[in-house]
Amino acid sequence: MHRSITRGIVALLLGSMAVLGLAAPQVAHAQSATPLQLTGMRTWASPTGTRVVFDFTAEVTPVAPDSGTGPQLVVAVPSPGLTAAAGVPSELNVADSAIVRVRSILDATGARFWVQLTPGATFKVFTLAAADDKPFRVVVDVQRAGAKASEDQRLATIAAAKKKNRMRLVVIDAGHGGEDTGARGPGGVLEKNVTLSVARRLADTLNAIPGVRAMLTRDSDFFIPLHDRYKIAEKVRADLFVSIHCNSSRRRGSGSGTEVFFLSLKGATDQADQDLADLENAADQLGGVAPQAQDEVVNVLYDVKRNSMLERSQLLAETLLDHVATDRRVSARGIKQAGFAVLKSVEFPSVLVETAFINNPREVLLLKDPKFQSRMANQIATGIREYFNKTGVTLSAEPSSTAAGPDGSR
Ligand SMILES: [Zn+2]
Repeated sequence: MHRSITRGIVALLLGSMAVLGLAAPQVAHAQSATPLQLTGMRTWASPTGTRVVFDFTAEVTPVAPDSGTGPQLVVAVPSPGLTAAAGVPSELNVADSAIVRVRSILDATGARFWVQLTPGATFKVFTLAAADDKPFRVVVDVQRAGAKASEDQRLATIAAAKKKNRMRLVVIDAGHGGEDTGARGPGGVLEKNVTLSVARRLADTLNAIPGVRAMLTRDSDFFIPLHDRYKIAEKVRADLFVSIHCNSSRRRGSGSGTEVFFLSLKGATDQADQDLADLENAADQLGGVAPQAQDEVVNVLYDVKRNSMLERSQLLAETLLDHVATDRRVSARGIKQAGFAVLKSVEFPSVLVETAFINNPREVLLLKDPKFQSRMANQIATGIREYFNKTGVTLSAEPSSTAAGPDGSR
């Protein structure tokens, strides 16, 4: 590439860029040649068991049974040269109701993870692709013995008490949790923590209203698949389902304010709403769900029920937004529709409240302020009470003396 002197500078620049250009693949090559690393080994507790997560810098293929039971489980990751990053423990003494301990053994052939289970515990092993800020993960979900039966019993007891006392039961769903942090705000504010705090305050406020009871889908920091969230509400025979979230403008351009969603069967109000629903629905991928078949029931009766619930969900969304909008610090962005997976039950009206924008510098200050959280909770609770009024529901202050009334409170 010989050129004139005037072109020499250009050539020199082009030459430098070519060098830079050549340098990039070399860096990439160096990265791909970096031995695979184990970068994390951690556990999350939930009411039914414990999840162990192994983080890797790249995809691996674990060798282990998909599911089973037994005193122990070995997950092998055959990968010569696999190393553990600094700070990753070689042993976790879990000592809870599901897992005794987890130990990693790294040698020339790769890694073996030895998970010692409590008697009768069952496990599932699956992988999760890298997504958002999450690395590639191998997950072992361990359920303690009898966990499902005792959880079903707990929910059945709540359903029976609701019927006996003729209460209206509102299930409040704090969005995200555990591995799935949701959106992030400045200063490390996480959506999963804000949603839990608002949800708890909302439950307390609702429980103070005569004739109303509230329960949470989660009351600590663990992950629940989207499908399980409304299934919990169905098992307790909920009257309403309210999912609490925070918006983020990284998802939707610059933004501020509150919006309330109900389910759309035909697609979203607009593309931005579809993007938001896609991101909220990605929770299962971030939080981690073992692959499972979806039970989609479709028949005429189901359609009638579903349409009736959609109408009621719209009324609930409108009523909640009217009340939330009385706080002038957050504007009302309106009622929207999108295909949120968590709103798919046909058993009760359900809405999803995007409280405010967690990455808006002004709104994040509100979202982490306990006073604002309480105010938001109070307004949603007032909206729920108003919704019951509008739909002709009388909230009884006294528990029914005749427990066996016709069809209870529904
Ligand atoms: Zn969310």
